[in-house]
Formats: sequence, C-alpha cells, structure tokens
Amino acid sequence: MAAAEEQQQGFHPLDEASLVAYIKATPALAARLGGRLDALTIKEVGDGNLNFVYIVLSEAGSVVVKQALPYVRCVGDSWPMTRERAYFEASALQKHRSLCPDHVPEVYHFDRAMSLIGMRYIEPPHIILRKGLIAGVEYPLLAEHMADYMAKTLFFTSLLNNNTTDHKKGVAQYCDNVEMCRLTEQVVFSDPYMLAKYNRCTSPFLDNDAAAVREDAELKLEIAELKSMFIERAQALLHGDFHTGSIMVTADSTQVIDPEFAFYGPMGFDIGAFLGNLILAYFSQDGHADQANDRKREEGARQTIC
Ligand code: ADP
Ligand code: MG
Repeated sequence: MAAAEEQQQGFHPLDEASLVAYIKATPALAARLGGRLDALTIKEVGDGNLNFVYIVLSEAGSVVVKQALPYVRCVGDSWPMTRERAYFEASALQKHRSLCPDHVPEVYHFDRAMSLIGMRYIEPPHIILRKGLIAGVEYPLLAEHMADYMAKTLFFTSLLNNNTTDHKKGVAQYCDNVEMCRLTEQVVFSDPYMLAKYNRCTSPFLDNDAAAVREDAELKLEIAELKSMFIERAQALLHGDFHTGSIMVTADSTQVIDPEFAFYGPMGFDIGAFLGNLILAYFSQDGHADQANDRKREEGARQTIC
C-alpha cells in the first residue's frame, strides 16, 4: 500500500520520538506510566521476527507498545503482510486473558488504525522460555501453568462450552486472519516437504535427512491430512504460534505472548506445537552440555519422574 494511502487511513510507523508523542496523546498509556512522561526510557526489542516492540519505562510505571508494519520485519518490504494481524493479536490476548488471567498479559490499549497494542510489560527476570531452555534452566511449574492455559483457552472457546451461534460468530471473526493462516500452511505444512525458497537446514550435514523427508511419500500423505485438519477444523480459538519463543518465564510465572496467528482451528495444533518444541529442546540438551552443566537430570529427580 502506498505511504500516502496509509496516512489517510490513520497509520504511520512509529519511531522512538513519535512514540513519545503518541503516548502523551493516549491517556490509557500515559496513566500506566503514572503520567511521568518527561524522562521516559525506551528500548526497541529487536528479537521479534515480524513486528516492532518497544519497552517504555517511566519512574512510575511501564508499558510495552507493539506495532505491526505492513511487511515481515526480518525479511523486509519484499514480503508484504497485512497489518490487521495486530487486531487478531489484541482480540486473542483479550479473550484468552478473560479465560486465563494468570498466564496472559493485560492489554491496556488497542489502536486498529495504527496496528498498535499497548500491553503489560512482562518485567525481568522474565525471559523467553526458549532462551531459558537453551541455558539449561529447569522450570518446575511450566507444565502445570501451560496445561492450565491450554485447558482453559481451548475448552472454553470450543463447542464443549459454547452454543453454536456464539461459536460460529467467533469462527467468522477470526476467518479474516486468513493471511496469517496461509503463512502457517506454507511454512509448517508445505515448504519443509519440498525444495522451497525460505527452507534452511545445516548444510551439508543434514542434506541427506532433508532429502529423505522430501522423498517420504507416506509422511507427506500424513502431513496432507494434518494440513487439511488445520484448514477445516474450527474447533477452538488457538494461539496459532505456540512455541517456546511465545512464552516468557521465571521460576514461578509463565506468560503467553504473541498470538497474532490466532484463529479457530484444531486444538492439537497448539498442544502439538508446544510439546514439539519441548521435544526439540530435550534433544538439543546434549549439544549444550559443558563442564558447568552436563544437562543430565540428577539421579534422584529422574527416579521421582519415573
Ligand atoms: P513478533 O511478533 O515480532 O515475533 P513478539 O511478540 O514475539 O514479536 O515480541 C518480540 C520480543 O519482544 C519478545 O521475544 C520479547 O523479548 C519482547 N516482548 C514482547 N512482548 C513483551 C511484553 N509484553 N513484555 C516484555 N517483553 C515483551
Ligand atoms: Mg510474532
């Protein structure tokens, strides 16, 4: 979309200076900073793949501001992508928080024209779960917290809980997130099983394994079945991108962020993404072992689990 056309629709990409002006003009955000807007500390957290995320701190409070631009950040404007994903992210955060407030951050402000979400700053020592797992940290409450999150968000947005009228309204609302769903169809259910532009594996070491996947007709048939379930089965309001990069943790807190791929799909897609990521983390531990931590569970703990 041409820049002039976007301006007309009330959109402009923020930088640190214009973000301050935006916050000053937005009472819902200013209030979270205790009105102390003259000495804000702003940090753009560059580890996101798609969007811009600003951490804003004042002497009296904090807020995170996330803005979607009309393209994929890590690729650039050669890969356009709808800004409406911010609307689905904000809607899913609000819905899932209403069902599971312990594990979903509060949305303070949403501006659809600006594709902008103001939400709780999930403060340190929270870190992204993937980083914690790579560092060898154990999270004893993670399983219980995420079981609680999945049970509540998936059960209560399904027909196990809702009547057909409400369910179909929800399905219709999230049908419009089709561009994000198409991306998942491509990068999860199609590209890995053929030669494709954005595929990457550790070459040449894994070349033979990647070729074996491409030549496995039985596997591809199974994947085709799963892909059709992903597209057809409007079972519950999914997070849609529920990997360990979408979870922030401490030893006793677990917060789920970033549901911009939210849509009504099969529950197994969220559950499988989470479990699959844990399995990947498990098998990568040997490769991270060092003198300080051999990544082997202590004998006593292993016995408790068995
Ligand atoms: P993207 O959709 O672009 O992948 P994310 O929502 O995953 O963006 O956010 C990118 C990074 O910003 C996260 O990995 C995390 O480090 C940080 N972040 C995002 N939301 C919050 C939040 N509410 N509080 C603290 N940090 C956050
Ligand atoms: Mg994201």
